[in-house]
Amino acid sequence: MKIILNILTHGDERIGLKVAKEIRKLNIDRNILTVQIANSKAFKFRKRFIDQDLNRSFPGKKTGNYEERLAYKLSAAIKSADFVLDIHSTKSELKDAIIVTNLNDETLKYVKAIQPKYVLIMNATKNNALISQAKIGIAFEYGKDNNPDALKKIVADVKKLFSHIGLINVKLHRQRQVTNYFSVVSEVKKPKGYKLLKKIKNYKLIRKDEVFATNGKNYLVAEDSFYPILFGENNYKTIFGFRGKRMS
Ligand SMILES: [Zn+2]
Repeated sequence: MKIILNILTHGDERIGLKVAKEIRKLNIDRNILTVQIANSKAFKFRKRFIDQDLNRSFPGKKTGNYEERLAYKLSAAIKSADFVLDIHSTKSELKDAIIVTNLNDETLKYVKAIQPKYVLIMNATKNNALISQAKIGIAFEYGKDNNPDALKKIVADVKKLFSHIGLINVKLHRQRQVTNYFSVVSEVKKPKGYKLLKKIKNYKLIRKDEVFATNGKNYLVAEDSFYPILFGENNYKTIFGFRGKRMS
């Protein structure tokens, strides 16, 4: 069994370092668990990335900009692992969201062991996210970077996973938490000067014909009903976030 605990895919998401520090205390065999710092250069410069978002750069290029080359280099290790955990933080109010790019039976078993509040199947990034290269890839987006509760929860859930596969022995509290599954289908563009209406919240349905953003003069109207996912004013430059459909 080979597991990669991947951190700092985004160089400004330091929560990964704290998670790695906690997980190292479990003293798991280094032949089994490797901590991988994905974008150490961006981390050093305290930036999200150097040239472009690494988490949209896979499978990468042999010659290209910094992140394209980095993705190309990282791909081999990611592909060789049995599973890859990718630790992120988020500015949007997501709360305990597990992100996968492919919810196959194997991945679903692990997700069920974690019992997160939300599972987001990211079809929108299924070919270029870091976890898209993994046999089983699971990303954690549990909250803001300096939020101690988000940190605690990520560590607890990684432990649940490790316990599930027999790597460690911890007592599990099986809560009766319902997991909500969303298929994330496409980006919602953010035209220049437009702002989201205050009432728009992640996971709260926007109905067909409902106004969701304005520039003060004109309005953006939903062509179809959708759930806003990873939404926020300043999460991304050119999009508000993503369009989600609820799955049963
Ligand atoms: Zn991130």
